[in-house]
Amino acid sequence: TPAPVREDVRADFPGISGRPDRVYLDSAATSQRPEAVISAEADFARHDYAAVHRGSSLATGEATFAFETARERVAAFVGAGEREVVWTENATDALNMVALGIADASAGLGGERFALRAGDEILVTEAEHHADLIPWQRLARRTGATLRWVPVDDRGLWTIDDLRAQLTARTRVVAFAHVSNVTGMIAPAAEIASLARDVGALSVLDACQSAPHLPLDLGALGVDFAAFSGHKMLGPNGIGVLYGRAELLDELPPARTGGSTITTVTMEDAEFLPAPQRFEAGTQPVTQVVGLGAAVDYLAGIGMDAVHAHEAQLAGELVDAVASVPGVRLVGPEPGAERAALASFIVDGVHAHDVGQFLDDRGITVRTGHHCAQPLHRRLGVAATTRASAYLYTTSDEIAALRDALREVRGFFGADR
Ligand code: PMP
Repeated sequence: TPAPVREDVRADFPGISGRPDRVYLDSAATSQRPEAVISAEADFARHDYAAVHRGSSLATGEATFAFETARERVAAFVGAGEREVVWTENATDALNMVALGIADASAGLGGERFALRAGDEILVTEAEHHADLIPWQRLARRTGATLRWVPVDDRGLWTIDDLRAQLTARTRVVAFAHVSNVTGMIAPAAEIASLARDVGALSVLDACQSAPHLPLDLGALGVDFAAFSGHKMLGPNGIGVLYGRAELLDELPPARTGGSTITTVTMEDAEFLPAPQRFEAGTQPVTQVVGLGAAVDYLAGIGMDAVHAHEAQLAGELVDAVASVPGVRLVGPEPGAERAALASFIVDGVHAHDVGQFLDDRGITVRTGHHCAQPLHRRLGVAATTRASAYLYTTSDEIAALRDALREVRGFFGADR
């Protein structure tokens, strides 16, 4: 039976229903937007646009109301308190804010509990996206801390035992992706948060590939910080979220400073507001926030359990599509094991970019390259893979189209001779 997507879901997405010439299998990079999001942004821009949190005009009051109710809805969507959602530019920005805040604390700018000292350890995994790796490399350089990592195996996977083996009494930060954007592996986030807590380390969750696809309850997972991007969850780009437990956010030094973040400023110093305002420096991206509010309303209306059920079926179909083709090697969990609805693969004898071009010529949009995870690709022994990824609007027919095209690719390039 085909995956249970409703035709009316596809009809909600002009970038899908309006493009019958295209099979869009690149939602892990960025998702299409439903009309509800596009019109929420446009209506706000047309009728209600004004600055937020400054001045006392009626227009500002109404825009601020829209801005703050979107925060409440996004917070409820991920199991957070409304003071625990900070607007950022994207997930990259959010992860940098945590790492830079810890660097500021280490430099004596407040938030003593976050301060790192030489010899302290930061733990990541070898599978991390560069956005959840480079900020920690820089933090280690700035503080004299040591960066350690959980190694991955030949398929790009790691286990909680591998992580436990790298944890020490000096681990102060454990940062990891909930769902890998290359392998689709789903990390046991609650267990890792609890292991981190046991050694007195902060847990930082890169929820970029989980917030759009799984029912997510950050409070219940018990992570200290989390980051995700609006543009991967049906929302606009230019908006992301830093989640942090309220008492941590109130103490983390704000790495970026300026207007809207303060209570009192003198020529010598500044006092900062509580979270979330202390982190939202400058004129806020209010239109994008309104769009993200509409995106989570849309997802909640469908129900994340239904989204996940649809994608669980597509994940199986994707794996079958890739694993059934001779000479194509699947990265990530074995067929049959749990994974997100994405599949990265290597076609023997054909460069990923040629595979991508071949699929593109058949109207199939996929992503090729290192997917911002060079260390992982180095471990896999390739410079690039091809990745197909699905979302709630993807159909079984589209996965079948990918399978049929993949069956031809090695022959086309003469790699099967
Ligand atoms: N982490 C993961 C796992 C991702 O997939 C991505 C986006 N490819 C990011 C972080 C960075 O997201 P953004 O570019 O929206 O900041």
